[in-house]
Amino acid sequence: MAAVRRRLAPLEDYARGVLAGDRATLARAITLIESGRDEDLALAQELLQRLLPATGKAHRVGITGVPGVGKSTAIDQLGINLVEAGHKVAVLAVDPTSTRSGGSILGDKTRMARLAQSRSAFIRPSPTSGTLGGVARKTRESMALLEAAGFDIVIVETVGVGQSEVAVAGMVDFFLVLLLAGGGDDLQGIKRGIVEIADLIAITKADGDNVVRARRAQATYQGALSILAPATSGWVAPVLTISAQENRGLDALWEKIIEHREAMTASGVFAARRGAQAVGWMRDLLQERLLSALAADARVAARLAELEGEVRSGRRTPALAVAELVAMIGLGAPATRDTT
Ligand code: GDP
Repeated sequence: MAAVRRRLAPLEDYARGVLAGDRATLARAITLIESGRDEDLALAQELLQRLLPATGKAHRVGITGVPGVGKSTAIDQLGINLVEAGHKVAVLAVDPTSTRSGGSILGDKTRMARLAQSRSAFIRPSPTSGTLGGVARKTRESMALLEAAGFDIVIVETVGVGQSEVAVAGMVDFFLVLLLAGGGDDLQGIKRGIVEIADLIAITKADGDNVVRARRAQATYQGALSILAPATSGWVAPVLTISAQENRGLDALWEKIIEHREAMTASGVFAARRGAQAVGWMRDLLQERLLSALAADARVAARLAELEGEVRSGRRTPALAVAELVAMIGLGAPATRDTT
């Protein structure tokens, strides 16, 4: 019997497939990144290291807005426009609620039905397990894989709740906030603090009867933004009106993204932001790794549970509990007193 030929190392299979833009391999590689198994994690990290030289070339654009604002319609139409212009467009989602519900609404292919059919597009829903930090880590890593696979535009969608926008703003080059024109409540976004992290605000559904209201909202936000500190130094966030349904305003929106990229590249802000984001990614990974190391050690995990009880009932300070745990994993001197 002929000797069975030795299979290529999975790492090389994955790397070659991703670099060739093979969609099935790409999807499997993202699944590897999302896996909670240690051996998958190790392989995924090796793969990312191997692919690192091929990453970093995409426009990374974050998009947020409350449910119903028109995110999926806008991404679908914008994505189609970009594909028609020769781009390869990937859409990822960060939805922390999916980790509780077990299902992701964001990034659902049925919400971007036309874009999902394009061979030049790749749509992936939010990971459905993990903390927000874990989901963010997986999304960042998936973004790197997509870049290595040749996608030159990666859109990261998030729903406008809580901390997820901040996490997404921390992994993209440009952060786009979609807002609805409201009846007299046009400063809702500002109250929630979201416009402070916006590089552009787009008032959606500016069509039909809504055009006048959308323009009024545009003027209100424009006025408010002129007195706020910009999210990116040297860039005053423009406010546009768009109608995804009528494909109006989306070309102007993309031109602003290009203009931002060029201005930020010239000023050095672009490279500085990318560098700071990479370091942030490293710190998040370190934190995640340390926490999982704590949980993996049965003795430490048991003591952690006890200490949590003591902290909860006020018998021990949080700082002292942390010092003891850190000492248990050999990272610090045993705690003798509270240093807070
Ligand atoms: P998402 O929840 O933010 O993804 O919002 P969707 O894209 O699903 O849109 C919510 C609703 O608004 C849907 O019924 C869309 O048809 C509608 N919609 C989205 N974009 C537009 C638009 O440009 N104009 C109008 N008139 N309706 C829109």
